[in-house]
Amino acid sequence: MSYATKMQLRMLVPCLAPLAFTLLIAWAVSVLEGLPEMLGGHPVESMLPDNILLAGLSLTSLLTIVQAIRVWRWSKGEGDLCYVCGCLLGFEKLGKRGVYRPCLGCDTSHPVG
Ligand SMILES: [Zn+2]
Repeated sequence: MSYATKMQLRMLVPCLAPLAFTLLIAWAVSVLEGLPEMLGGHPVESMLPDNILLAGLSLTSLLTIVQAIRVWRWSKGEGDLCYVCGCLLGFEKLGKRGVYRPCLGCDTSHPVG
């Protein structure tokens, strides 16, 4: 697996987290809404699970578009790039030696400042 492939996976896979999380929440809400009917009461009809899932899908789409724009800018040579492999740098983190930005491709730490 090349560094560029690693970088793209590290950028795009976390975009699926909101969809997975809201899918779980929508399933739980759907089960809770079915409880009154299972206990002999009136069925609950609501659009809440669908709306939760739609919100998760929207957030996932937005995050994917933002990351796709970053990859597109990287392909044009723009953005903060790693001097070792040429991949994009991740968000700032606080480490033992201060603030740094990890490379999304080769994991090299790049000090900030
Ligand atoms: Zn790198």
